[in-house]
Amino acid sequence: MKHAVGLNSGTDALWLVFLALGIKPGDEIITTANTFFATAEAIWIARAKAVFVDCDPKTSNIDPARIEAAITPRTRAIVPVHLYGLCVDMKAVSEIARKHKLFVVEDDAQAIDGHGADWKQGQLSDAVCTSFIIQKNLGTFGDGGAVVTNRDDIDATVRRLRNHGSTVRSVHSMGYNSRLDDLHAAILGVKLRHITRWTDRRREIARRYSRGLEGTSFKLPYEPPGYRHVFHLYVIETPRRDALEKHLLEQGVDVKLHYPIAIHQQEGYPWGQLADARPNVPNCERNAAQCLSLPMFPELTDAEVDYTIEKCVEWDRKNR
Ligand SMILES: *Cc1c(COP(=O)(O)O)cnc(C)c1O
Repeated sequence: MKHAVGLNSGTDALWLVFLALGIKPGDEIITTANTFFATAEAIWIARAKAVFVDCDPKTSNIDPARIEAAITPRTRAIVPVHLYGLCVDMKAVSEIARKHKLFVVEDDAQAIDGHGADWKQGQLSDAVCTSFIIQKNLGTFGDGGAVVTNRDDIDATVRRLRNHGSTVRSVHSMGYNSRLDDLHAAILGVKLRHITRWTDRRREIARRYSRGLEGTSFKLPYEPPGYRHVFHLYVIETPRRDALEKHLLEQGVDVKLHYPIAIHQQEGYPWGQLADARPNVPNCERNAAQCLSLPMFPELTDAEVDYTIEKCVEWDRKNR
């Protein structure tokens, strides 16, 4: 990619790209309701209207086949979220965007170092936004983010906006303070050298989980042929999620939920009509009710992974 602009967060990365693209209050942006809150928040900060399209239950990602039905004359952009570390089918998304003259901004906060079948993030969109908060696959020791783009205009605008509207010393137009901290940038520079190895280990752990959980009643993560899923999260789904969560926590397995409350189910939604009041997203709602994230980080030992598998399989046999 031609440009990378370091920023303070993934949220500001999305928001500043929206500004750079000239997104105006009342414009509509299509995205998914089962994502980390920041995706919708950035749309809200830009005073655009989030329009939620349901996900594909197989991948948990936005279902490209449902996007066209959500397009209106006010639609300006699509924000595919590469959820859990699996890329959205960007070929399908970019085709729809080209046909309807829409911008595409990738939310790549969870899929750094991944790729699609024969394409990478950024090749089929206007810009890629990512986050370097500590718990992401490539993290600082605090907050951070970036915009990566081949478009000179987006690069120039985001670069100016992040630094008080200034690119030449003492000369300002209006902007913000959204810079990546130098200390965090230095940490990223070191960690960047290890990201491929860390991703490979995550994939190995995921394969071990998937082999071990084969034949259980759980829905397991799916990786389309040729994709590189980076397993930011390893998420299984079960209708008896709350009971399994309780069981695993009691057995000392640190499971978490990503994300048990879909965006449109959050308190206060739709925040002054800046979103779709009642989106038709049953798959996102099922995902929120059934998702369970098993422990996933490169330093997990095989024995720890096997212990989690054993506890899951045991529970499934008794409770299916
Ligand atoms: C982490 C994340 C963001 C942005 O996070 P920041 O905390 O602002 O860096 C945006 N979208 C998704 C899907 C994320 O997981």
